[in-house]
Amino acid sequence: MTNMILDGGSAGMNLAATQAAEKKLLVQTYDRHAVMFVSGEGVHLRDADGNEYLDLLSGIGVSALGYNHPAITKTITEQAATLLHTSNLFYHSGTATLATKLTEITGMDRVFFCNSGTEAWEAALKIARSHATLLRNEGKQIGTKILALEHSFHGRTMGAVATTHKAKYREPFGPLTPGVEFVPFNDVAALRAAFSNDVCAIAIEVLQGEGGIHPVSQEFFAAARELCDSTGALLLCDEIQSGIGRTGKWCAYQHYGIQPDVTTLAKALAGGLPMGATLCTEEAARAITPGMHGTTFGGGPLVCAVALTAIDTIEHENLLAHNTEVGNYFMEKLRALKKKHDCIVEVRGMGLMIGMELNDDDVAGKMVTAMLEHHVIINRTSETVLRFLPPYLITKADVDEGVAALDSALTEVLQAHTVLAGDHTHGE
Ligand SMILES: *Cc1c(COP(=O)(O)O)cnc(C)c1O
Repeated sequence: MTNMILDGGSAGMNLAATQAAEKKLLVQTYDRHAVMFVSGEGVHLRDADGNEYLDLLSGIGVSALGYNHPAITKTITEQAATLLHTSNLFYHSGTATLATKLTEITGMDRVFFCNSGTEAWEAALKIARSHATLLRNEGKQIGTKILALEHSFHGRTMGAVATTHKAKYREPFGPLTPGVEFVPFNDVAALRAAFSNDVCAIAIEVLQGEGGIHPVSQEFFAAARELCDSTGALLLCDEIQSGIGRTGKWCAYQHYGIQPDVTTLAKALAGGLPMGATLCTEEAARAITPGMHGTTFGGGPLVCAVALTAIDTIEHENLLAHNTEVGNYFMEKLRALKKKHDCIVEVRGMGLMIGMELNDDDVAGKMVTAMLEHHVIINRTSETVLRFLPPYLITKADVDEGVAALDSALTEVLQAHTVLAGDHTHGE
């Protein structure tokens, strides 16, 4: 019996062979670090040479319950042995059970299940356009324009990328979905100026992730809600990175007491498996009737069962309160580090979604590699921001270990940086 397990044993290639083969065989979408992981346990990953790494990134927010969590592993194993896929032509009990849970914790009315963040966001955009079409058919005056924010990130499909601000992600793929206008982040006057009856939706990441961990202001968020209410336009909140408890509440918008019309979840939703969800109000859901939208894999039995287990685990292990507490502790420690290192500009975040902005993009880039040498996994986003999205299981002792590594790595990188900067023969 063939059983291909990629644990560093005989089934896969080693790191050097993998690098050579990927360079030749894969479309070159990623610039990976030269580390090959073979297993994980709790908040730690192990590489092919047997080194253990403290994970402060969770595979960009996905592995919220860490690695090999007994509840997740058990559900995957048992559900896989029971039923994997049925298609959306038939019922299984997972979709309704999970929708019950998700609508309860988010305050939304209805759910569409899919397989990734960008698909969830694509559905949100389609609901917004279709809802505006419906309103026009009912005699209302509403257009098709979508207002998105500067430094936003909503995914890589054509619609999602059209609402994503970074030119590199958008411009090569033109012509893009038309009708998107970008508004400066947290600029209430600019938002009001851009808004009119032409607008069918305002798109907001409540806490911008790829954009550098920037929370939307209460004032801006409230203005967006009020403007949408004035015309029937929909307020779309992308919670793909911030949702499912990462910020200490199920959704980041719950910190503000503002409810969107549509919200999207993905990353942490299904304990490490690919799953996305678009949640909306009853009013927004009127825009979609059978056949208008769908996906082959969306909401299958395996991911539904695992998402239910993940949410149940977050509740039973009290992880929302834990994320708030450990997140505040983490940010305190980082702010203490700021007193020691002048290159740290600001520490921002909510719960376990944290950014530490440095004053130099080169130093920030080198910090990720230096931290890997200290066997701690972090990431850089928006050029100068070190990003921390640790698994929810992280302890204060783990934070201490991570911050000590940051302290040492910053000293090392800055020393090398200063030597280079002082060497006038270098690069001239
Ligand atoms: C990651 C992310 C996406 C895209 O999710 P994919 O699963 O990579 O398609 C969209 N929006 C936000 C805010 C994200 O963080």
